[in-house]
This record gives sequence, structure tokens and C-alpha cells, in this order.
Amino acid sequence: MKLQTDFSNTLQDPLFKILKETVDEVGIESYVIGGFVRDLILGRVQKKDIDIVALGSGIDLAKAVQKKLAGAKPVQVFKTYGTAMIHWEGMDLEFVGARKESYMPESRNPEVTPGSLTDDQNRRDFTINALAISLNKADFGAFIDPFNGLDDLKGKILRTPLDPDITYSDDPLRMLRAIRFANQLNFTIERQSLEAISQNASRIEIISKERIVDELHKILATSKPSVGFTLLEKTGLLKHILPELIALKGVEEIEGQRHKDNFYHTLEVVDNLCPNSDNVWLRWAALLHDIGKAPTKKFKPPVGWTFHNHEFVGAKMVYKIFKRLKMPLNEKMKFVQKMVLMSSRPIVIAEEQVNDSAVRRLVFDAGASIDDLITLCEADITTKNPKRFERYHNNFKLVREKIVAVEEKDHLRNFQPPVSGEAIMEFFGLHPCREIGIIKEAIKEAILEGEIPNEFEAAFERMKEEGKKLGLTPHEKSV
Ligand code: ATP
Ligand code: MG
Repeated sequence: MKLQTDFSNTLQDPLFKILKETVDEVGIESYVIGGFVRDLILGRVQKKDIDIVALGSGIDLAKAVQKKLAGAKPVQVFKTYGTAMIHWEGMDLEFVGARKESYMPESRNPEVTPGSLTDDQNRRDFTINALAISLNKADFGAFIDPFNGLDDLKGKILRTPLDPDITYSDDPLRMLRAIRFANQLNFTIERQSLEAISQNASRIEIISKERIVDELHKILATSKPSVGFTLLEKTGLLKHILPELIALKGVEEIEGQRHKDNFYHTLEVVDNLCPNSDNVWLRWAALLHDIGKAPTKKFKPPVGWTFHNHEFVGAKMVYKIFKRLKMPLNEKMKFVQKMVLMSSRPIVIAEEQVNDSAVRRLVFDAGASIDDLITLCEADITTKNPKRFERYHNNFKLVREKIVAVEEKDHLRNFQPPVSGEAIMEFFGLHPCREIGIIKEAIKEAILEGEIPNEFEAAFERMKEEGKKLGLTPHEKSV
């Protein structure tokens, strides 16, 4: 891998000139540190967040810099952390005073005292995140790499600057960060570090759910989340975070019949989905689509292994998981639930002859999420039998074509009954009663079965027929 260690282009950037000038004027020794330096060397598309560490007040430095940045919003100060932030031209510039940290076992919030640059680098999570570039006049642009982070960037290795056991125990969030970086950057976690993560896995319990979920989102956003989730499982972290997934692990055999390992199947589905959708909620749905299989698993001769109703049970579990992890209980969760609940429906269609009315019902039930649902189901095809693989994919192509055709004709995605309850009441001279619901349902069924188009006239005719069957007669005014 080609690493970029010539920073001259970046240092000529007007922003860096301003930083240099200001650092000199206020006389606070300062360095760019962390993710920005790492990504610069890796040639990764810069996320444009810059962390600056100051040997003195980061807040004072931030205020001085802000004055020189045309159009910068006022400095946001976080007094408790002694940090300051400037939003400028879509970037976040974060300023923090160099610090030394000492930890107490029951909290991830350390006691913080001002420190030297070395102290500050020591408290960083990985050698590759401790790299610094000087902003000081005397050695502007100098590269400060006390732990040979550059070698680790070359070797694609994640290593903690200090003893990994202490590093992870002090702040267990770092364990998730290690796995997330390994996944994002395609790096290997160094052996002792990996062992220390396994040893400290249960300490993840002291980390807030929000931060855990943040990292899970980042893992799910990579192009191959199975790498991260496999590491989470192997280190024992996953059972503290998503035990429902662990419950899917393993293959059981009774009377010579085996079911697939639904944990690894699930990871394969998530990976399959990634090239086709960036929607992190759809990726969550893929991750959770089979969770109902553990509690519903039964061996029923002569059928074999069954997971009766697992989609329904799974959808309920989605709510519990979101609640436990303090994730939003809003339409995002409902979307995930819907995907889990409906995750087997298109498969059933695709396994058999693709039939029109089944497709109509699918579109009707999935509504606006129909395309996401099909994308999920295509990812769910993990059969290793090439003939079957092709057949299923071809059938899904057919399903997609039929969806388009059905949509053009009947607009079922956002179905509104073509004849309203009021119109039915008026025609038959009724007050609110059961019959109205029966007629509406019959009209909807006729449309979904393809017996009549989704149009007012045809539906009105059907209404008359259905009314007659119920012994209703048109109201005088209607005749
Ligand atoms: P990215 O922003 O791409 O996720 P990053 O490395 O910039 O990666 P941030 O969370 O923005 O990560 O943190 C900035 C820097 O702060 C890191 O590079 C690292 O040096 C340090 N850091 C962040 N979190 C921790 C932590 N939990 N323990 C130790 N150091 C940390
Ligand atoms: Mg960052």
C-alpha cells in the first residue's frame, strides 16, 4: 500500500497557514492529531474533521482561530471537557488541551489533568491514532510518531500505545473502536490486543448504549460488516450487545437432518446487501431478519426443522432490541419491523410460479418499502447450489417486473379504497354498520385478485353486487 507522508500540499492549504499564524501569535504550542493525520497518510477521502491538541487552553486557541476564518460560526465551548469546536465550510475543527488521564474501574470517565504532548499521545487508543503534525513555527509540519504508528499503518495493524489490557479496561469503548477500525480500514488487530479484548469483553457493560450503537452503525456502514460482526462474536463482545444473534449460532442435527447456521447465514445476507443498498436501516433489517428463528426452532418429523412464525416473533424482538439499545422507536424501527415481518413473503413467491395476485398483495402490504424488501430478499439467497441460486434470482427479476406492471396499472403502493365508506353508506342509505366494512373488504380483495381494476367505476359496480349479496337495496335517492 502506498502511504502519503509528504504533507506539503496539505500544509500549504490556507487553513493550515491560518492555524500556523494563530498558534504563533497566541503562543500556545499545538499539533494536529488523530484521525485526520491517519487518513491523510492513508490517502483516505478526508472526512474533514480536524482534531487539534494544544499545550494550553484549546478554548483560547479556538477563539483566536475563529476570528480569522471568514464565515465561521461562533466557537462552541464544552467546558466540562475543556474542548472547543468550530464549524467552518462543512468541517468540524475540534480543539482540546493536551491531557493526562487516570481511570477508576467503574467508569469510563477518567480524571483529567493538563499534560504534555506525550501524555496526550499516551492516552490515544491506537498507535495509528496517536500521530501528530506540528503547527508550531519552529518545526511546522514535523511528524511526531512516538509509537511507530507509521509502521503499523504500513503493516495494517491496530495496536494500542500502552498495555492493551489496561487500555481496554480503562475505556472499554476502545474495544468496539478497534473492531470498527479493523473493519473500516481492513486492518488486523494485533494478537495481544485481541486477547485483551476477549479478556475485557464484559466491561463493555459500562459503556452507554448510544456509543455502542454508534459503533454498530459504523460497522454496518462498511462494505463488509461480517468482518466486524465475526470479530465481535469471537471476542465475546457480541453476547453482551446482541445476544439474540448469538442464539442463532450453531447447527443441530436430528435424524440426519440439519438446519443451516443462521448466524453465519445472517452475516452473509448483510454482506450481500451492502453493494445494493447504503440504507443503514435496511442493513439492520438484514442483521435482524432471522432473529425469530432461535426461539421458534422445533424439530417436527417428518417435516424436519421448522421455524414457525419466526418473522412475527422476530418483528416483536426488533422492538425489544431497539428499546434496550436506546435506538429510535420511530418510523425507522417500524421499517425494520416491517422488513423482518415480511422477509419471507417474496421468497415464497419466487420459489413458486410467480403469480400476479400474490405480487399485488405483496405490493399492497409492503407499500413504499417494496423495493427495499425485494433487495433484502435477493440478499437472502445464500444457497450454494448454483442452479437454485440462478432460479431464485431469475424469479426475483420476474417479481420486480411484475411489481412495475402492477404499479402502472393499479397503483397499489399507497392504496386508497376507490369507493369510500361514505359513498357506500349514501348509496344504500346506511348508518355506520358491519356491512360497510364487508363491502370495502370485498372490493379490496377483488382488486388484489385482479378481478377488477383499481378504479372508481369498476369498484362502484362491485359495490352494488356485494350489497345485493348482503340483501341491501339502493336508497331511493340513489336509484
Ligand atoms: P473517525 O472520525 O474516522 O471515526 P477518528 O480516529 O478521527 O476516526 P474520533 O472519534 O473522531 O476518531 O476521535 C479522534 C481521535 O481521538 C482519535 O483519532 C483518537 O486519537 C482519539 N480518541 C477518540 N476516542 C478515543 C478513545 N475512546 N480512547 C482513546 N482515544 C480516543
Ligand atoms: Mg474523527
